[in-house]
Amino acid sequence: MDPLEKLCETAASFFARGYAFGSTGNLSVVVDDRVWITPTGASLRKVVPADLACISLDGAALNANKASKEYPFHLAAYRGAGGRAKALVHLHCTYAVALSCLDTLDEANPLPVFTPYYLMRVAPLAVLPYYRPGSGELAQAVGEAAVVHDSMLLRNHGVICLGAALEEAVDRTEELEETAKLWFLTRGEKLRMLTAGEQDEIRRVFRGVR
Ligand SMILES: [Zn+2]
Repeated sequence: MDPLEKLCETAASFFARGYAFGSTGNLSVVVDDRVWITPTGASLRKVVPADLACISLDGAALNANKASKEYPFHLAAYRGAGGRAKALVHLHCTYAVALSCLDTLDEANPLPVFTPYYLMRVAPLAVLPYYRPGSGELAQAVGEAAVVHDSMLLRNHGVICLGAALEEAVDRTEELEETAKLWFLTRGEKLRMLTAGEQDEIRRVFRGVR
């Protein structure tokens, strides 16, 4: 499938399933050193390829469409990841945002490892301080985190997931939101976590798990 069609289809799917709402959320993919990103102020529900903004990795506009206001952190993430990332998903999905607002959040260990899938797709999850959306400070923090992290929780804001392809960024985002949901659903219960040995086994068997 054409990568721009796929981006739009993914955006609509996030909206249809309640991961995105209103005009929140933005997605981008890198194709031949050009960043294609969802436009500013638009609902992900009905974005079509002709609406996508195209910018260079330096931020120069390459078509007439206006990029999402959050484009600075997309560019910073691609630069920080140094070619490892070719897609970025940013959403304000409910459970992850709820997690990001907890005053008691353990920033070094924001979610417990109770499923192999969280370990395989999301961990290690970086927690970034709150910065105003669209600000240079937020972009800088995302760029620094992207050097080693593919998954980020932005305090009082949302999530950012990177991927070598769009599917990978999407999988990460969904796993992160569902793990946050599980965490709230089981809050106060005594949980069986994956043991250190079980976590090591996942890292051994599945290449690339950190
Ligand atoms: Zn946002």
